Amino acid sequence: TNPEIERIKTALPGWVEAGKPFASEGKVASYIPELSKAPKEALGIALISKDGETIAAGDADLSFTMQSISKVFTLILALMDNGEELVFSKVGMEPTGDNFNSMLKLELVRPGIPFNPLINAGAITVSSLIEGADAADKSARILHFFKELAANDCLDYDMAVYRSESETGDLNRSMAYLLKDNGVLNGSVDDVLDVYFRHCSINVRCADLARMALVLACDGTDPLTGQTLIPRRYVQIAKTFMTTCGMYNASGEFAIQVGLPAKSGVSGGILTLVPGRFGIGIVGPALNAKGNSRAGVRLLETMSQELDWSMF
Ligand code: GLU
Repeated sequence: TNPEIERIKTALPGWVEAGKPFASEGKVASYIPELSKAPKEALGIALISKDGETIAAGDADLSFTMQSISKVFTLILALMDNGEELVFSKVGMEPTGDNFNSMLKLELVRPGIPFNPLINAGAITVSSLIEGADAADKSARILHFFKELAANDCLDYDMAVYRSESETGDLNRSMAYLLKDNGVLNGSVDDVLDVYFRHCSINVRCADLARMALVLACDGTDPLTGQTLIPRRYVQIAKTFMTTCGMYNASGEFAIQVGLPAKSGVSGGILTLVPGRFGIGIVGPALNAKGNSRAGVRLLETMSQELDWSMF
């Protein structure tokens, strides 16, 4: 038996209970109207160890859409489709310090390429780089890739969230038009946005995020099947972006307080990992002022301190 896993099994329910009250300090995202229906007080977590041991606590069975968490994996697929050189000719490698949906730095420089692949402008650009005959084919390839990573053939879209964002996503739409005018995006803006809105609306549970994260924790190989799903170099790139820009404008603070590569989304999900050891998925829909799950961040701060998880 592994003492760390035993310790987590014993302590996790208490850590989750202690984290839950922090949800009341946060707010559920409502700019995508459908997201506002999420349970504000919820907090759930699932961890999977490299030996396949799963530990869950709290509202781990809640399903939620991946939103920005999906951007990590579309980046990886775009890298697998096109290689580093092409991808980084269209999108940069630097944190912005601006909001995730900001157009500011796209307007400053013409032709302006997005600062990084995890802000909306960058992720929309990445969506345009996914190979496929048409938008439907590209979306199908993304969903297939996510199913493989999560080892879950049942992953699918939350169509209500997809439609809700598609009907209201005018800021993303204007960003995509600006990117097209800047020569960054090619082809139909509507098609690119359809691919983007769809991958944001893929429905998951904490255990799905944990399994996807485990593949990253193990350098691209699913340790439970032995299958290599991602070249190690692209996992390294993805984990670096998660560390520098994965938690919006709180990525620096998160690196100090938790010290693990992570990506959060507006639905309140967080995907994170302990290199070589665990994949972790968390959900807590109430967000703090920076857009990260309030209770989820609190839970990770506790776990990182108690288990000495910081990479730094
Ligand atoms: N689909 C969301 C948007 O484009 C994702 C944002 C996020 O999770 O940060 O606004």
